[in-house]
Amino acid sequence: MLESRKLSVYWQISGFLQTTANVVGSGRNEAMERVLVTGGAGFLGSHLCDRLLAEGYRVTAMDNLITGTTENIAHNCKNPNFDFVKYDVTQYLYLEGKVDYVFHFASPASPIDYLQLPIQTLKVGSLGTHKTLGLAFSCGSKYLLASTSEVYGDPLIHPQSENYWGNVNPIGPRGVYDEAKRFAEALTMAYHRFHGVDTKIVRIFNTYGPRMRLYDGRVVPTFIRQALKGEPLTVYGDGSQTRSFCFVSDLIDGIYRLAVSDLHDPVNIGNPVEMTVLQFAELILKITGSKSEIIFEPLPKDDPKQRRPDISFAKDKLRWEPKVPVEEGLRMTIEYFRGRI
Ligand code: UDP
Repeated sequence: MLESRKLSVYWQISGFLQTTANVVGSGRNEAMERVLVTGGAGFLGSHLCDRLLAEGYRVTAMDNLITGTTENIAHNCKNPNFDFVKYDVTQYLYLEGKVDYVFHFASPASPIDYLQLPIQTLKVGSLGTHKTLGLAFSCGSKYLLASTSEVYGDPLIHPQSENYWGNVNPIGPRGVYDEAKRFAEALTMAYHRFHGVDTKIVRIFNTYGPRMRLYDGRVVPTFIRQALKGEPLTVYGDGSQTRSFCFVSDLIDGIYRLAVSDLHDPVNIGNPVEMTVLQFAELILKITGSKSEIIFEPLPKDDPKQRRPDISFAKDKLRWEPKVPVEEGLRMTIEYFRGRI
C-alpha cells in the first residue's frame, strides 16, 4: 500500500541525497482540490505541476525518475501544497486521502528514450494508464491523459485533425510508444463510456522549452547543444521532413483549458507553424549566431515525413491558440541551455 504521508522520499537536490520521512507540509490547506500528476518530475509534468500550484491546487507529483529528475521540481519542495512520491505507476496504485484530478503524464517521450526503454514505455502507456484510471474511478476523480501526435504515425493526411485514425507501424521501433498511447486512448474512452469517469485526452505535438534534457536526443535540445558547443548539427535524412514546434507555456495553457472543460474527445494541442528540419537547423544557427556546419545522417526508421496539428477544435471549443512566436520561445530555451553547457 502506498501512503504519501508515510513514504520515505528521496530528494536529490544539488547533488546530495536528503531523506525525509514525511513529505506532507503542516501548513497546507486540506480544503483545496488535490491533483495527482504522474510523470510530475518530467519536462511537461513539472511545468504542469507549476501551473496547477499557481491555480490553487494541492499537487502530488509521482515519478519513478527513469527519465524525469527532481531538479525539475526542486523549486517546489518547500511549498506546503506540493509533495513528491517516487513510484512506478505501473504497480498497484493507492493514495491516501482524496484525489480530485489525475493527470497521467508519465512516459519516456523522446525517440531515443523509448528505443532504450521499450518495455517500460509499453508498460506505462498500458498498465500505467490502467492503474491511474482505476485510481480515478475509485476516488471519483477527473482524469486527463497525455496522448501524442504519434497516434497519427507517419500521417497520410495533412495537417492532422482529431478525426484522422493514423498510419502507425505496430512492430516498428516507434510502435512501443505509438501503440501504447493508442491503447491508452482506447482504455480512457472505455473508462469514460463504461464507468462514467470524467476523462479528457490531449494529443500533444512537438513541444520545447526549459527543462528538456540536453541529451534526450530530440531535435530541439540536440541542435541547440550542438550549435552552442560549435559542433556540427546532425540533420537526419535530407532534412525535408517537417515538424511544428510549440513553446511549453502555450501547451500547458491549452492542457489547463482542456482540463477544466467538459470535453471528452481527444484534442490536438500544438503550434501549427510548420517547418522542415533543415529550416529548423538554419534557424537555430541564426538565433545562436553559431558557426557550426550542418551534416546529414541516416533517417531513423519510420520517422514521420510531415507533422502539423489542425487546431480548429481547440480554437473553437477551448478558445485556445499558441501565443509565443517560435523565435521568442527558442531564445528562452537557448538561454536555459546556455546555463547548462
Ligand atoms: N532529427 C534530426 N537530427 C537530430 C535529432 C532529430 O534531424 O539530431 C529529426 C528527426 O529525424 C525528426 C525530427 O528531427 O524528423 C524531430 O525529431 P524528434 O526526435 O525531436 O521528435 P519526433 O517528432 O520525431 O518524435
